[in-house]
Amino acid sequence: MKTITVLGSTGSIGTNTLSVLALHPERFRVFALAAHSNADKLLAQCLAFHPVYAVLGDAPAARDLQQRLRAAGCATEVLSGPRALEDVASAPEVDLVMAAIVGAAGLAASLAAARSGKRLLLANKESLVVAGDLLLTALEQGGGDLIPIDSEHSAILQSLPADRSRWQADVRNIVLTASGGPFRQRDPQSLHAVTPQEACAHPNWSMGAKISVDSATMMNKALEVIEAHYLFGMRPEQIEVLIHPQSIVHSMVNYLDGSVLAQLGQPDMRTPIAYGLSYPERIASGAPWLDLARIGRLDFEQPDAQRFPGLALAFDALRMPVGACAVLNASNEVAVDAFLRQRIRFTDIHRINADLLASAECAQCDSLDALAELDTQTRLQAQQRVVQLSV
Ligand code: NAD
Ligand code: MG
Repeated sequence: MKTITVLGSTGSIGTNTLSVLALHPERFRVFALAAHSNADKLLAQCLAFHPVYAVLGDAPAARDLQQRLRAAGCATEVLSGPRALEDVASAPEVDLVMAAIVGAAGLAASLAAARSGKRLLLANKESLVVAGDLLLTALEQGGGDLIPIDSEHSAILQSLPADRSRWQADVRNIVLTASGGPFRQRDPQSLHAVTPQEACAHPNWSMGAKISVDSATMMNKALEVIEAHYLFGMRPEQIEVLIHPQSIVHSMVNYLDGSVLAQLGQPDMRTPIAYGLSYPERIASGAPWLDLARIGRLDFEQPDAQRFPGLALAFDALRMPVGACAVLNASNEVAVDAFLRQRIRFTDIHRINADLLASAECAQCDSLDALAELDTQTRLQAQQRVVQLSV
């Protein structure tokens, strides 16, 4: 029996995680569920899973939730505030932490889980992008490990040798696949006019709003390139991106002898979630079986740099001093939020990210404090650019 904390339980990854856990009540016990503001959904989850703790961002909403749980006869204790996330991520009872908060807001809890030796199931890729070295050091010091939940990185982990000491010796490069999102074939000249609703209508995956917009700009793949660099120790020139519209081949590893190993499956996050939960064993996920005869064909193409200019920013950032990736992430979070609020155009997201990365001053950013300061300053500058570009 493993005990798990699910951070971001009301989101897309959080909900999928609970649906896999529900298939295996004899294997997993839920210690804590944490959400930002959706009290109704968190209430329903508490009544279904009876965690010891629930965490809600806002203190008055947390008190209200506590009363509703008591009235329903549920013993779950409700906590709130930023320390609460770190506490439920590092509690001694916990074996596994699903980090499924969106954005850099998830970093402190990811670090807390890593420092306290948990198995960190990392969906929150922004944690690695912002503070990759610090997170890896925390894992090493804490004695825990990290299993990526991002489908591409799960695929790479599944396709690499089990013996980690062979990763550098045997591998030529890794290939991250990308669906190309909703605008893969759209005229680049018309992209300035697309709406948040169009940008969030992903052809293959159902996901939260932020990652959906990131998929439309391909900034998601840019963040994943940085994530792969930290997870697998690959140099930027060893990381390739290939468009694969069907999202069946989730990523691949090219070996020195010409062999290519890939992981395939339906585009369903329950598969990489189940892999993370049971690693290195396999358990049922609830995802449908892959039927290749029905799918019929798998297509691949090079990403179009003109249509997806954001992708190159990841490779630029990886060649800059270490804080550059944090600048790119903070800028992108602000720009995506402004686009979702219809304050800027879709194409302004890249404009802001490219401007801020080009002017980034991040030479001495190797501590958490320095990165936090850089994150704050970048958000302020990005907000100013949003005001200048507001439609
Ligand atoms: P989502 O928007 O659906 O859910 C986000 C969750 O985080 C919610 O439970 C929300 O309450 C919580 N949250 C947001 N801000 C918070 C804060 N400040 N403090 C505490 N909790 C907060 O997002 P999602 O699509 O589930 O994505 C979550 C993470 O997983 C992201 O980093 C994303 O890039 C990554 N990811 C998602 C998918 C997917 O299929 N959805 C795939 C790969 C990776
Ligand atoms: Mg992914």
